Amino acid sequence: MSRILICLALLTVSAGSCRPAAKTVGTANDPGINLIIDGKLWASFFQQRSAEYRALCQQAYNIASLRVNELAVRQSLRPMAIVTDIDETFLDNSPYAVRQALAGRDYEQSSWAEWTARGMADTLQGALPFFRLAVSRGIAVFYITNREESERQGTLANLKKFDFPFADDEHLVMRTSTSSKESRRVALSEKYDIVMLLGDNLADFSSIFDKKNETDRASAVNAAAAEFGHRFILLPNPVYGGWEESFYQFNMKRTSAEKDSLIRHSLKGY
Ligand SMILES: [Mg+2]
Repeated sequence: MSRILICLALLTVSAGSCRPAAKTVGTANDPGINLIIDGKLWASFFQQRSAEYRALCQQAYNIASLRVNELAVRQSLRPMAIVTDIDETFLDNSPYAVRQALAGRDYEQSSWAEWTARGMADTLQGALPFFRLAVSRGIAVFYITNREESERQGTLANLKKFDFPFADDEHLVMRTSTSSKESRRVALSEKYDIVMLLGDNLADFSSIFDKKNETDRASAVNAAAAEFGHRFILLPNPVYGGWEESFYQFNMKRTSAEKDSLIRHSLKGY
């Protein structure tokens, strides 16, 4: 049994849970581990159980709070607004990733929509106090997400469950015909001064990160280095994101075995 699965088995016993044992999907390279499925299980384990993950989220929201207090005394011709992503920025979808991985599956839109319709994702540490602080400082919050329009009701229910501010149709901006958020940000900036953006994905911040290969993403981070912790507040997401899509050259329909092989051939060892 792989080290990952041994750890997960021990965790299951110690937590007294009735979860089924992790399912191992064999590959040609290593019949014991599938890096996609087992990897996402391990990343979700970090997300759900490590205090370090909680602290990373808190750290991001502490910095965001410092910035809001600075911005609140700034003069602005237009009303100020914060733009935030939702998933893995302030809602925790790791139960979905775990459910999928234990079934030997990765993300898929149909099961994802079933999950978001439940409106039961928990919040990430530090998020709610931060958004309430922003409201108290007179700054509006807009939720720009790539959830589908059909997921609106479940999403609103999830926001209202925790009493997030501005949980209404005007402030919840769902995916349009494109995954790029640029046109939605531009439309919002006609009325508002967007003073801060929060996300777990570089594309949550600027089109300079949209659909770039890995080298260009790294270059874009260097070019925007001063913005991180300033106008851009980044949350950690080891489970999925633009980093993963870029690695696969945006061909997410590769088979699990192909993805596994690509990862193995890219990793540095010694
Ligand atoms: Mg996200």
